[in-house]
Amino acid sequence: MKINLKKYAKIDKKEHVMLHIQHRLPYFILTPCDLSCHFQVMAHGNYDLLSTEVGGKLQIICQRCLEPFEYAYHHVNELVICRTDAEAARYMTSFDCIVSQTGEVDLLEIITDELHLCGHEKHEDMALCQQVLASSASH
Ligand SMILES: [Zn+2]
Repeated sequence: MKINLKKYAKIDKKEHVMLHIQHRLPYFILTPCDLSCHFQVMAHGNYDLLSTEVGGKLQIICQRCLEPFEYAYHHVNELVICRTDAEAARYMTSFDCIVSQTGEVDLLEIITDELHLCGHEKHEDMALCQQVLASSASH
C-alpha cells in the first residue's frame, strides 16, 4: 500500500487503514494477519515524519511449546523519511530512517518490517505455555 508523502502531509489529521498482511511475516506469526493502522505524515523541510500506530490480534506460534496463541499487538512508531542516503546518515543516529527518492513509501512493507522486531514469539505467561504444563504434569 503506497502512500504519497506530499499528499498525506497536506492532510492535517490521522488517517486510518486496515492492513491485510500476507507476505514476509516473521516465521512465528500465522499468515495472514489483519491490523488496524492510524498514520500521519508531517513535512519537516528536507524530510518527512511518518507516525504510525498499529494494533490488532496476532496469532503467534509459541516457539517454546509450538501451540498457537493470540497476542494483542500494539505498536507506536515514528519514522524519518529522507530523500537521500546522505540525509538519512545525518538523522540515523537519533531516529529510525528510511530513504525514499520517489516521495512514496509502502506502508504495508514498513508495518511488516516492524512485526519482525515485535519479539513476542513465546507465551509470556508461563502458566499458559504447554511445555511448562507438560513438564509439571510429569513430575
Ligand atoms: Zn508456549
